[in-house]
Amino acid sequence: MLRDAHIHLAEHGRERSWLAVGDCTDREMCLDRIASAAAELPADGWLTASGLRTEAWSDPTPPDADALHEATDGRRVTLHSFDHHAMVVSRRVLELAGINDATPDPEGGFIVRRGGKATGLLLESACDFVRDVTPEATVHDRKAWIREAQQELRALGIAEVHDMHAIPDFARALLELEAEDALELDVHLYVPPWAFDEVRTIMAAAVDSKRVHLSGIKLFTDGTLNSRTAHMLRPFAHPIESHPRGTPLLSDDEILSTFARAAGAGVEVATHAIGDGAVRRMLDLHERFDDTVRLRIEHAQFIDEADIPRFPRQGVIASMQPCHLLTDIEAIRRLTPDRAHRAFPLRDLVDACSEAGVAPESVLILGSDAPIVSPDPADNLQAAVERRRAGMAASEAVAPEQALERDMVVHLSKS
Ligand SMILES: [Zn+2]
Repeated sequence: MLRDAHIHLAEHGRERSWLAVGDCTDREMCLDRIASAAAELPADGWLTASGLRTEAWSDPTPPDADALHEATDGRRVTLHSFDHHAMVVSRRVLELAGINDATPDPEGGFIVRRGGKATGLLLESACDFVRDVTPEATVHDRKAWIREAQQELRALGIAEVHDMHAIPDFARALLELEAEDALELDVHLYVPPWAFDEVRTIMAAAVDSKRVHLSGIKLFTDGTLNSRTAHMLRPFAHPIESHPRGTPLLSDDEILSTFARAAGAGVEVATHAIGDGAVRRMLDLHERFDDTVRLRIEHAQFIDEADIPRFPRQGVIASMQPCHLLTDIEAIRRLTPDRAHRAFPLRDLVDACSEAGVAPESVLILGSDAPIVSPDPADNLQAAVERRRAGMAASEAVAPEQALERDMVVHLSKS
């Protein structure tokens, strides 16, 4: 039975109805596609697009608020980066969200400006200004999205998923589907801290549920590679000036108190950590925490050599998505050229498990992070075995010494 150990189930279903721009090879192509889709909408329509991946463009400058305004005759446009840690919005959305040139950056986010003027590009928590004015989805909407996603996943042979944004309405939607005998997946819930008590109450009342499981609290302790907000041990090659080594999120006390909360509730802590700095910090804090708590580090896209043996030793899970290598090859080369050999160090982890006499599947588990990328397990296989996109020469592989055998990848994809 195949498992996707890191997914956003409802969001994946929802994104299937958005305009996809992931295959656009430059700004003009992206703006053209947005213009044609916007032309189908009424003047007060709101176009949502996703998949923006400017690191693959020869000029990685995204379209700005004015360009989106002009391309769509002043319509509202939200254009999500493929990793969902950044967005560009049109001029009308900036106004609607109350963002002007003088708006200060929120904690944990940036309003990207040029010559003091907001460009429309929002990073990390600055995206919340827009989310706050975007119409809220209902439980009914979420059920439809889950059905949409589930159909695709079942067709791919996936029977178990770990959802990393399990908010209360998502739990309600799953339980309603299960009661209607329409849920065809086993779903493990990883819940943001603000929602944990509410989801716990919902799950405590759902005594009959066999398929929905409350499994953990989900944290974010850094940003992403493509947004240059991942917390790295060394500076990015082309950094954000004010944050050359990315953006650590949450204080040590906040993280330690989440460990205590999870230990008390008998669940795991799953934390997003992409940079090698964020990974090391989480291992340090886990080591410092007196009680026992099961820690999963989600992504662990860069791991310093020195930290590899700590995974089997501390019993920390690396929940990785090798398939991100396929979308991140350009960003790894451009932004972290001196750390490329530490990207998704699968072989090092498996070897460290053998040395420690620990089963690799108790340390390393695989997922996709759909809708960031496709949930097709074939992509993880491709990336973990070949370390490059289909069609690329073998010499273009990223850190080929970190490759795994096919059998091992299949083994790590099962529950
Ligand atoms: Zn995710």
